[in-house]
Amino acid sequence: MLEFVTSQKGTRKLVVQGYLFTKHSDGSDGKIFWRCENRTCKARVHTQENQIVHEVETHNHTVTHGKVEVERARASMKRRGGTTEETTRLIVQNELMNVPVSAAHLFPKRTTLAQDVRRHRQKIGPNDQEDIMKYSLTQGNRPFIRIRTDDMIIFAADEDLEFLSRCDHWFADGTF
Ligand SMILES: [Zn+2]
Repeated sequence: MLEFVTSQKGTRKLVVQGYLFTKHSDGSDGKIFWRCENRTCKARVHTQENQIVHEVETHNHTVTHGKVEVERARASMKRRGGTTEETTRLIVQNELMNVPVSAAHLFPKRTTLAQDVRRHRQKIGPNDQEDIMKYSLTQGNRPFIRIRTDDMIIFAADEDLEFLSRCDHWFADGTF
């Protein structure tokens, strides 16, 4: 059985004894040729029907322990970002808790990880014109979208604005 991790670019990497391989090309009969992700290394493997059928050359470097965990955790962060309502910060924090201490130093900064998750959310989020237009008017056909820029949408009904205008204090909260 082959083991894979999903890279930051969304492509699959093959894991063989702790080494990561990227897909090089397709061969005949459903064969796939993989090359070591370390581009100075000549190690290659060929897979077919979920099995390694051929190995070429040996690695000219040692395994970087923890690299697979890093890829796995980063993919998992994105997945949670896309499927849950958890805050970005909480997602990063929770995933990092499951990472072995030995791999912790291989991770980018938390701010970078959070940015990955946010970008992913934006990419799959309701950026579809139609989705947003559904919310452009209230049920009473009054305007609901007040401000719309590339990275911000502010919704408010007339009643909301009127209510706010009567308040002495406004408190704001947000998910960042
Ligand atoms: Zn290698």
